[in-house]
Amino acid sequence: MAKRRSKKAAAPRRGRSIPPNVSMESFLIHGRHFTDKWDFRHHIIPPQSSSVTYRLDTTERGAKGFRDYASGNAHKTEPIYIYDRLDEPTRGMLEDELAGAEGGDFCVCFATGMAAIAAALGVTLRAGDELLAHKTLYGCTYSLVTNWFPKQNISSQLIDLRDLRAVKAAINSRTRAIYFESPVNPTLELIDIAAIRKLADEANKNRPVGQKIYVIIDNTFATPFCQRPLEHGAHVVVHSLTKNIGGYGTDMGGAVIGPRELEGQVLLYRKDFGGVLAPKSAWPILVYGLPTLPLRLRKQMESAMEVARFLHGHPKVARVLYPGLASHPQFALAKKQMRNLDGEFAPGNMIYFETVEKHANEPRNNIKVVDWIARNAYTLTLAVSLGQLRTLIENPGAMTHAAVPPEKRLESGISPAGIRLSIGVENVADIIRDLDLGLAQAD
Ligand SMILES: *Cc1c(COP(=O)(O)O)cnc(C)c1O
Repeated sequence: MAKRRSKKAAAPRRGRSIPPNVSMESFLIHGRHFTDKWDFRHHIIPPQSSSVTYRLDTTERGAKGFRDYASGNAHKTEPIYIYDRLDEPTRGMLEDELAGAEGGDFCVCFATGMAAIAAALGVTLRAGDELLAHKTLYGCTYSLVTNWFPKQNISSQLIDLRDLRAVKAAINSRTRAIYFESPVNPTLELIDIAAIRKLADEANKNRPVGQKIYVIIDNTFATPFCQRPLEHGAHVVVHSLTKNIGGYGTDMGGAVIGPRELEGQVLLYRKDFGGVLAPKSAWPILVYGLPTLPLRLRKQMESAMEVARFLHGHPKVARVLYPGLASHPQFALAKKQMRNLDGEFAPGNMIYFETVEKHANEPRNNIKVVDWIARNAYTLTLAVSLGQLRTLIENPGAMTHAAVPPEKRLESGISPAGIRLSIGVENVADIIRDLDLGLAQAD
């Protein structure tokens, strides 16, 4: 038997000798049984671990792992890995980085952005409670809130959260969460995070513990590079890691980041509903996505600014919403809220615009433009999703926000003539040339 190393050099485990009478069949399963080849501390690239279950050494260690799990103490002790769905090292490294990037106490990662949103709302809302949300939401979030929550007796008020008086009036004794995106998908409106938190604090003053209102923001469009909502007063941040953070369009993922008091609940929710992020999907986000986030976004933002300026002056364009343009109705709020890690203005890589239409309810031009681009443009691709190396274009009314009924879409400011652009890292002159050629197809 090889000698055991001292406790201090805990990472590499010594190999065990193979029993003399063991069969080749068993050897092919167990190899040297333990190996000293796992020296994760010295990897430059974090390893992609792929182990559903974990060796526990003793019953007591296993019991401690279960006791510590979701107890709120796990971050204080060495992790005891038990089973992938509970906790896992590759995903755990991604969670540590995301919590750090947003400035939160914890991060729990999910299979998709929608799984993360369902969890954040799932731990804060119970039957009989009410959700207060912005009237414009990502299509599937809208569907979750309006189709599924009523079946669980969770009601919702969808109002304009830019109207603070309306927010104050809408908060009632059943309100438990205020939820929004900022910038809003797809209209690029902004919600004043600090102002919403102030109203939540006023309401929370007289509330018993356990009935607190949580302010929850979907920070997918901005990413922690462009905006750190916890600094402005949000309690919880959710992300679709599928988008800007993943950055390459290879894997789906979601994240919930928040205060320690919610960590246990979010972990238990993930354990029991099961929508956990696979380590194989966590790995590219950890290894490629997060490390290149500032690089990609700096370049994309620089281009987005130029593209927004080009669209702003274009005769076939009725309206452009980009938080970096002084013409954005909430430009002052954009400059306050959207700041990169160096404190510089960081209005993001997403643009919303509407084509000029002769008949407002029967848009033709935006379809003409987008379809021409889909067939002919080299640097623009007709596709949903966002935040990739390639510039993506879509019609939110017909695609990403199709789950929103037409009359609600209009109410939400999603015009049938709307076009959403996610600026990639191509040469910006090529992007603008393709857009210009596309817009030339409009009547
Ligand atoms: C895409 C998106 C989601 C959903 O994320 P998935 O990873 O596709 O489940 C949620 N919110 C916003 C703002 C999104 O753009």
